[in-house]
Amino acid sequence: MKKVVVFSQIDQDVLLKLQQDYQVVVLNPKMGDINEQIRTEVADADAMIGAGRLLNETNLATAQKLKIISTVSVGYDNYDINYLNQRKIWLANTPHVLTETTADLAFSLLLSAARKIPQLDAWIKQGQWKRTVSTKQFGMDVFGKTLGIIGLGHIGAAIARRGFHGFNMNILYHNRREKIEVAEAYNAQYCDLDRLLQQSDFIVVAVDLNQESKALIGSAQFDLMQKHAVFVNISRGSVVDESALIDALQQNKIFAAGLDVYAKEPLQESPLFQLPNVVTAPHIGSATLETRKKMVHLAYQNLIDALEDRQPRYLVNPKFE
Ligand code: NAP
Repeated sequence: MKKVVVFSQIDQDVLLKLQQDYQVVVLNPKMGDINEQIRTEVADADAMIGAGRLLNETNLATAQKLKIISTVSVGYDNYDINYLNQRKIWLANTPHVLTETTADLAFSLLLSAARKIPQLDAWIKQGQWKRTVSTKQFGMDVFGKTLGIIGLGHIGAAIARRGFHGFNMNILYHNRREKIEVAEAYNAQYCDLDRLLQQSDFIVVAVDLNQESKALIGSAQFDLMQKHAVFVNISRGSVVDESALIDALQQNKIFAAGLDVYAKEPLQESPLFQLPNVVTAPHIGSATLETRKKMVHLAYQNLIDALEDRQPRYLVNPKFE
């Protein structure tokens, strides 16, 4: 019987389906060092499924016949692709099914930061609403403003659609290459990063994390932003120099930020906690009941396709190159 290692919590229905056909081992961080568990269990495993763990030579070297790692995520920066290619291990991911939900979250952060929703929620609950609000509680208009999107991929395009159709926004975008068709659909203007930062009222980062996008936004980039700019990051924490962001917020170089991702997760301690002008979310871009179900079912399908000798639909490294 083929062996599947489950390396994070997954949907119960999918787990039961796996258990019907395969020998399934579910790793549990409460049972000791997780990397040690991976090293032991992967040795005779055929497949792995899960999310949120760094998988590379240090914990996969013992694998003898591992065919696929099926990640329940679209981002795959946790996986050492070069090593997987070298070992001829497929990596499958779950694009598309989380695009709209993640774009919704980006917009929630944008609106919440612009209108100070969490701060004012806390303010009311502390009994501070004693008279009509004053300028301290005022936010920023969103409708009709300029939205700069860094990374016009699937999620970036879904954010552009919301901005263009829902909020009559003027869309600027920066991407590794021009995206003519998507840009046309939302009247989005391609520009270099500096111009986007200088001209946008709202800036949303939606790139994938890679060699070029690591620390893409640092202090020089925050210095270019307008004082009233709202900065949103839903991509990966390492795309932004977090201390430069904290400095920009502390010095009021920008109006506010909305963050879903951080340099180190889970975020346990941070100067961000002391800042009134930041809205934080615990990496919940795709975290709705419906979307997470779709993602795990897609990851399951990718996994069984590989185990049944079919090419999975969503492979990051189909040809190991
Ligand atoms: P995607 O379709 O691959 O889009 C990524 C876009 O970023 C592509 O258009 C890519 O350009 C562009 N890009 C990459 N590096 C760049 C750089 N250095 N400068 C400019 N543009 C760059 O991926 P997606 O599905 O939209 O997802 C994007 C990322 O969002 C994921 O990789 C993941 O890290 C993150 N994410 C987060 C959550 C969350 O819970 N917060 C949920 C889902 C996804 P090319 O066209 O040249 O490739």
